Order: sequence, then structure tokens, then C-alpha cells
Amino acid sequence: MDASLSYIVVSAARQVERAIRRNLLKEWKFIKPYHVDDGKKFRLKDFDPADTQGLDLRQEAGNLLKNGIARLSDMQQKLYAQDRWALLLIFQAMDAAGKDSVIRHVMSGVNPQGCQVYAFKAPSTEELSHDFLWRTSKNLPQRGHIGIFNRSYYEEVLVVRVHPQVLAKERIPASLVTKKIWKERFEAINSFESYLDREGVVIRKFFLNVSKTEQKRRFLSRLQEPDKNWKFSEDDVRERERWDDYSSAYEDMIRHTATPHAPWYVVPADHKWFTRLVVASTVIHTLGSLNLSFPSVSPDKKKDLDSARKLLLNEN
Ligand code: ATP
Ligand code: MG
Repeated sequence: MDASLSYIVVSAARQVERAIRRNLLKEWKFIKPYHVDDGKKFRLKDFDPADTQGLDLRQEAGNLLKNGIARLSDMQQKLYAQDRWALLLIFQAMDAAGKDSVIRHVMSGVNPQGCQVYAFKAPSTEELSHDFLWRTSKNLPQRGHIGIFNRSYYEEVLVVRVHPQVLAKERIPASLVTKKIWKERFEAINSFESYLDREGVVIRKFFLNVSKTEQKRRFLSRLQEPDKNWKFSEDDVRERERWDDYSSAYEDMIRHTATPHAPWYVVPADHKWFTRLVVASTVIHTLGSLNLSFPSVSPDKKKDLDSARKLLLNEN
């Protein structure tokens, strides 16, 4: 092949590759491997935290995400204007899996007026005096809005399950605390989510799946770099010792609460650039499935707009 022909072939191949990458976030097959809507056969070990689908997009991830965010921002405007659906995004993960940074990056283009983020920490005295869904119910997104839960009622079958002393603090009558309690909580959550689904609250749940090795690396970097010291808590290392218990609790949770109307996405979290692309793509798909559009204007309203325009034009 002469030099100019091989140049044409290579640049054509690059163009095709770029086109594929531009549309990557729109492709269902990109997120399908992580989508779980029937948990019966779910096993955490089938999901590789370091998966990147063989794509090395580290360099382009920023641009891909930028395109995705622009699309997302456009869809959010329609969601807001339509004022019918609400979107609830739930993030759960082990420490240092990158929940905060995913939320920050993926939602960076959305209008803050239509998007609220809530981080759920250990419950307050007031919250402990109520049923376990109380505090999250108060912060559900209203129609037209996106609500983000950084941790959620799912902590009630995770940290509370791993640490029985946390359950004791909830002061549930003793006769109601039996070994069926976790199954009962899954049922309560499933009913709650079905109810929300029927009310027009679309739910997507993300489990950021980080490996134990990568968590250690991130903890060490939090300890080594002064600007990251604030992120480190001694409790994190103690919780890490319970890694296997947490993994079992996460697995059981996904088995029991993955449903078609409120699926889990088990997102590989060892490579942050990849995690962000998968989460962005999922949100884009979800909003895309709602066929959003700006509300059309009725003939009466059109007349009003016409009169308003004339009034403005005739102003002195
Ligand atoms: P970061 O990534 O910055 O560490 P974080 O979400 O881990 O953020 P922290 O303040 O470190 O925030 O931890 C919040 C703690 O609150 C977690 O240990 C979590 O398990 C705990 N928590 C959240 N919800 C509940 C709950 N319902 N009952 C008991 N503990 C809870
Ligand atoms: Mg923490």
C-alpha cells in the first residue's frame, strides 16, 4: 500500500472509531452488562470491579463525558418543563468507591434548581424515633426533579445488618425483631419502590463495585496526600475488616431488591473514568426512555403569547 492510501485508510478507521465513541453513551449494550433487574441468580463474584470492556478511553473519557453531560442537561430541562416524572438515583458503595466524585462529575451540567442531592449519614435521634423509611421519604424528588441519594434506606440492610448494635438503637419492639427481619425489610423496600414507580418516580440504583485492593490504594492515598487527609476516617479501616460481611449483605440486598421497575446497576468502580461513563450512560438511557419533550402550547395560550408580543413591540 502506498503511503497516501494507508494514510486514508488509517484516518477513515479513526473517524469510525471516534463516531462509535461519540455514541457510546447512547448504546444500551454499553450498560447492559451491569443492569440487574432480576436478582435470583445474582452473584457478586460474576462482576469484575476492574472491568472496562477492553476499552482504553482514559484519554477521551473527559470529552465523552462532556458530550453525555450536554445531552443530560438538555433532557433535564424537558423533565423539568414537563413536570410529570421524577427521577430518583440511589448510590450505594463501600467507602472510597467514588460515590461523591461520580455524583459531582455526572451531574455537573444539570440545573441545580431541578436537582437535589442528599447524603444520608448515621441517623439522628429524631430519625431514630421513626420507621426506617421516614427520613428518606421526606427527601424524595418532586415531579420534574432529579433526586440523588448518596446512601439511602439501603443502609438499613447493610450497615445495620453488619452491626446488630445499630439495629438495637432503632428501638423496634422486641417481638418484631426476628430472624426474618432482613427479608421483611426487603419486602418493605420493594413495596415502597413499586408504589413510587406507580406514582411516576423513576428509580435507578447504583452499586459502585470497588475491589478490596483498590480501596486499600485509595485509603493509602488519602493518608499520604495532605489534601485528601480530611476524607479519611479511622472507622473506614474498621469497616474494611468487615469486607466479607458487607459483600454478603450487598449480594443479598441486590438478590432481593433488583426489579424491572427499580433495577440495580453493578458498576465497575476500580477505574473512575469508566464508572462515570457507565453512570452517565444509564441516566441518559433512563431519561431517554421517558420520551421527554417540552410541553406544547395550546391555541389559547398561543393567542396570549401573540398579544404579549404585540404589547412589547408597541411599547414606547
Ligand atoms: P465519604 O465517602 O466522604 O466517606 P460517606 O458516605 O462514607 O462519605 P461518612 O460520614 O463517612 O460518609 O459515613 C456515613 C456513615 O453513615 C456510614 O458509615 C454509613 O454506614 C452510616 N449510615 C448511613 N445510613 C445509616 C443508617 N440508616 N443507619 C446507620 N448508619 C448509617
Ligand atoms: Mg465514609
